Amino acid sequence: MGQTAAALREFPAREGAEPLIELRGLTKHFPVRGGFWGRARDFVRAVSGVDLQIYPGETLGLVGESGCGKSTLGRTLLRLIEPTAGEILYEGRDITRLPSKEMRALRRDLQIIFQDPYASLNPRMSVEQIVGEPLAVHNLRPKKDRRDRIVELLELVGLSPEALSRYPHEFSGGQRQRIGIARALAVEPRFIVCDEPVSSLDVSIQAQIVNLLMELQEKLGLTYLFIAHDLRLVEFVSDRIAIMYLGRIVELGPATEIVTKPLHPYSEALLSAIPVPDPKTKQKRIVLEGEVPSPIHPPAGCAFHPRCRHAKADCASALPPLLEISSVHSSACKYASEIYRKA
Ligand code: ATP
Repeated sequence: MGQTAAALREFPAREGAEPLIELRGLTKHFPVRGGFWGRARDFVRAVSGVDLQIYPGETLGLVGESGCGKSTLGRTLLRLIEPTAGEILYEGRDITRLPSKEMRALRRDLQIIFQDPYASLNPRMSVEQIVGEPLAVHNLRPKKDRRDRIVELLELVGLSPEALSRYPHEFSGGQRQRIGIARALAVEPRFIVCDEPVSSLDVSIQAQIVNLLMELQEKLGLTYLFIAHDLRLVEFVSDRIAIMYLGRIVELGPATEIVTKPLHPYSEALLSAIPVPDPKTKQKRIVLEGEVPSPIHPPAGCAFHPRCRHAKADCASALPPLLEISSVHSSACKYASEIYRKA
């Protein structure tokens, strides 16, 4: 957790700092082709109207069931996928329609670490080539200094210089993720989307990589969007958490509050599914009825209402916006104050 982020826990973010990243109505709908002449028959509404601010030095966790749009949001935010609508601001500057040349320069600041380090590393390239490639692309160091810089980056992620001449298949999953992190750090980024960075690793290795990411954040002043479906892990690494359901943010607040006092029935259900380590503690599990609805035809009104145990008749009529319940905690449940009044 960065220093700025620590301060943000104590008072509303908006009083603390200007956002590093701001999303305004960010939307990504993928066409489903198959109509006449291959025209779009329909759209997968992967991300719809997301408003979000990410502050310097913080880790914002992004959680939700598989297919709810987390990766699409992370990639659209970096413009690895072009948005259908909405705006992306970086340090207050609108980068949504920035020409590719200018965007390329900005890529230095905005990086991504992928879930599967093996799939994201070119198997035919040595570690020296993999980590050195971004240095060459962005012309960051004179050629003669590049090797020293690569060794420095490897050391930063806990790998020895012997790794230089080796290839991805010669490493374990955790080591491969370290190589992926070293590559992302090569350009000295300010913001990193960590897209399920430990989901494909053994539990024992997960902790090492998570600790490494947190140490690097402290050392280099990084800002993270940390995507995962493991809410406990996200709580551990995050300052704030955004809960996503069918392409929309349904709850946003400080990590500790989200896990102790959730203000949306979906978050409450996600939390109740986490096993409690103490066998004496009785926990009521809220079973989510039914499948996640199709993002092609999301339910009208609140998309969660068909699975919600608190749903009322009018939940199906209008889309509930994400509203502040307190200065730091927002919910998109129109009955949040009523349901959670006693909490
Ligand atoms: P997971 O946790 O399983 O990775 P996710 O929450 O990251 O899931 P996304 O991968 O963002 O979800 O997918 C959101 C929705 O968009 C899904 O219904 C997915 O099938 C769809 N989708 C993602 N990429 C594309 C694409 N390139 N073309 C069409 N549909 C897509």
